[in-house]
Amino acid sequence: MLAIRAGRLFDGVDAAAVECPLVLIENGRILAVRSGTEPPAGAEVVDLGTATLLPGLIDSHAHLVFDASADPVGHLDGASDADVLVAMRARARSALAAGITTVRDLGDRGYLAVKLRDELAADPTAGPRILAAGPPITTDRGHCWYLGGEAIGGVDAIRAAVREHAERGVDVIKLMATGGELTAGTASHVPPFEIAELRAAVDEAHRHDLPATAHAHGAGGIANAVAAGVDMVEHGTFMTADGAAADPVVVEAVARAGIPIGATIALRSAPGIAPPPRIAKMLPLLLAVFRDLRTAEIPLVCSSDSGIAPTKPADVLRFGPAMMTTLLGDPPAEALRAVTSLAARACWLGDTKGRVARGYDADLLAVDGDPLADPAALTAVRAVFRAGVRVR
Ligand SMILES: [Zn+2]
Repeated sequence: MLAIRAGRLFDGVDAAAVECPLVLIENGRILAVRSGTEPPAGAEVVDLGTATLLPGLIDSHAHLVFDASADPVGHLDGASDADVLVAMRARARSALAAGITTVRDLGDRGYLAVKLRDELAADPTAGPRILAAGPPITTDRGHCWYLGGEAIGGVDAIRAAVREHAERGVDVIKLMATGGELTAGTASHVPPFEIAELRAAVDEAHRHDLPATAHAHGAGGIANAVAAGVDMVEHGTFMTADGAAADPVVVEAVARAGIPIGATIALRSAPGIAPPPRIAKMLPLLLAVFRDLRTAEIPLVCSSDSGIAPTKPADVLRFGPAMMTTLLGDPPAEALRAVTSLAARACWLGDTKGRVARGYDADLLAVDGDPLADPAALTAVRAVFRAGVRVR
């Protein structure tokens, strides 16, 4: 048995910290969470002093195949699967070292994230738990078509594509319900699929017990995805041709559906590194949209879209919660839930991940300072545990 002591604990849900926690772990799972008591005789004790313990972070939207350069699509295009897989292993390791213990990969090429997931399953210290979507399902030359997920031929074709993904062993179905910034010839505000096509895809995903999540920027694509019954919307930026503005009718539809929006806001700001000019210009409008979503009480999961730009390396999620407090005015506990318990539920892992509680997987992060006072403390990593094994 492993016994971890720390200064305080955020359990993934409660805004009030547990003081002087003692977390008991056996066989990769949390056996008990106590406060102010001595470890049982015979337990191996790890004393983290004044550090804050919390659930390992969950990035519900990442792309391990992309290299976070200024040209991730061009670089991927020129690389062999074998070389990409080597780079993906390193990205997975860097995410885990930052305390990101679960990564949902929402778009690879050639099912490489599925392959990596299976490889890492044998050694929890080599990387996070990975959930993989395989190549995102898209239209003829639609967003990210170059990843290999084009479904051409209406309802039957998209059903067949979902079935093939399920047979290849994916954990989630990713649908492109609008164009996107990374793909020439598509536009973020334009929805390429018919509602009937998206509905067939969601139905087929659910028949295989898989969640379906939709990339959707513009209001039309968001509305189509919600009407089709998706389990989550990625981005949800309400981008228009030259800006962004929340459409109250569509916001109401999302709120009524009770599904979360994955706000892919986490980014690293560093000298010489900035978001693309089009996005930078739009930033105040995007923040206003997210505040409108908050007002409508739509659950906002904080994620990264890691890999797509220099501002988004594989370990970038740790900056997200501080952005939710400073930019959206979220209380720190709310911002921390957005990368732990709420993110776990959104990924259909609510019974095993995202909380420090009896029966949950012992995926833990310890940081110096108090992230319940300031989530920026998430970057001061003291220790990381994955399935009860210390990796850092
Ligand atoms: Zn993405």
